[in-house]
Amino acid sequence: MTTYDRLFIGGDWVTPASGDTYELSSASTEEPIGSVPAASEADVDAAVSEARRAFDDPNGWASWDPLRRAEAIEELAAQLESRSDEMARRVSAQNGMPITIAGQLEGGFPLIVLRYYADLLRKTSFETSQPHLLGGTSTVRRAPMGVVAAISPWNYPQTLASFKIAPALAAGCTIVLKPSPETLLDAFLFAEAVAETSIPAGVVNVVPGGRDVGAYLVGHPDVDKVAFTGSTSAGRLIAETCGRLLRPVTLELGGKSAAIVLDDADLNPETMGERLFESLLVNNGQTCYLGTRILAPDNRHDEIVDTLAAFVSSLPVGDSLDPDTMIGPMASAIHRDRVEGFIDKGKGDGARVVTGGQRSDRDRGWFVTPTVFADVDNNSVIAQEEIFGPVLGVIRYRDVDDAVRIANDSRYGLGGTVWTSDPERGSAVARRIKTGTIGINRYLPDPSAPFGGVKDSGIGRELGPDGLNAYLNVQTIYS
Ligand code: NAD
Repeated sequence: MTTYDRLFIGGDWVTPASGDTYELSSASTEEPIGSVPAASEADVDAAVSEARRAFDDPNGWASWDPLRRAEAIEELAAQLESRSDEMARRVSAQNGMPITIAGQLEGGFPLIVLRYYADLLRKTSFETSQPHLLGGTSTVRRAPMGVVAAISPWNYPQTLASFKIAPALAAGCTIVLKPSPETLLDAFLFAEAVAETSIPAGVVNVVPGGRDVGAYLVGHPDVDKVAFTGSTSAGRLIAETCGRLLRPVTLELGGKSAAIVLDDADLNPETMGERLFESLLVNNGQTCYLGTRILAPDNRHDEIVDTLAAFVSSLPVGDSLDPDTMIGPMASAIHRDRVEGFIDKGKGDGARVVTGGQRSDRDRGWFVTPTVFADVDNNSVIAQEEIFGPVLGVIRYRDVDDAVRIANDSRYGLGGTVWTSDPERGSAVARRIKTGTIGINRYLPDPSAPFGGVKDSGIGRELGPDGLNAYLNVQTIYS
């Protein structure tokens, strides 16, 4: 059991305002694994006020030379690196992410993101002067926005928090992080890492809470910028609040991406298995950008269905902490029931189960049997709604124009892939897809390039230089 009884606010471990707690359980065994205090509105007030004070301090974080901020961000990366195995274990136990994946992503990816932004800080100029077109000089400076409310989901809690924290810190902002109630033990380990750095007190604060606490934070009068990753429905509510308050907001929301298999694609699992896994199924399907609508050409449809079914059913399912596991459980019982509800809906709507489809026979843990459907209609619920589990649906197409039409016939636009032995052909098809990101024969987000969605998948971009700009206000001084 990992137990905390204090909150990380204002650079200190403070007694929470209420005695409420969150009890965390293992997704694989359902056994209790930890307990942490829940933040109340009073704790959010305290956290925002500390972040405000730290931001407004004339000698504080925002005033630091960018090179000094870069060093402090690197200190944080080093502190997290020394905790990366424990971080991976905590995330894996809570949300079911297989430990080998958690090691690379939750234990490793935030370090890459932090170091990328520290490096970018060294190369970025925050002030430039140019001749005023009508005579004189225009100086353009980019200044930190202020206090950031960062709200993260449970599926990649550390990685997705780092997409916000690293650029916000680099910009000179201060942060109140609200992690998801399903994944809190990792957030406390993160706070321990922050506490060991020279990042000043109040620059990073952590308030564990659910949607009410999140909504309170988003609407708090002293917050200057909101960065949210989560569901489209919550994103809409947050956007409404931010619209009313005219508060800048970045929204990374849901997805239902297409994996377009062209007629010349090589899907041989022996050579392409790792790429297929990372593009279609990683983290038990609990990943926003996965290509879960597989678009197969008529002339290769049956062969593609058979290949995918054999591949999916070959993946070892098990306890997320077992290094052999490729597919672990869902993050919660509620989420498992939701995914199973979609599988039932798919069957009811006439899609054909090729593998999986039945309840897991494990007596403990929130497991879903990896499932492939064929004969899926793109208008059906399982093709239009985000399932967020190990469930793939194969949809037939006639020709490339038809594939592009089907891929774009979605309210989402986050990820996607094109599979082909001709990369130029793949690139031409990729450019026709209305989506924020897309891969050719792979899908792997790049910390140095913008990531985000269009349509119901969100507004704005994280990562890359665009991710830093999202935390900067532009001020022009005419002289
Ligand atoms: P969720 O929307 O239920 O919760 C996400 C976070 O927002 C949690 O911390 C939650 O407590 C908080 N929250 C919920 N309602 C809120 C509100 N009204 N105001 C403020 N905060 C609120 O999502 P989830 O179930 O935790 O995560 C899964 C979803 O996240 C999926 O839809 C997935 O696609 C999406 N996601 C998107 C990306 C991306 O980069 N686009 C990445 C990962 C996950």
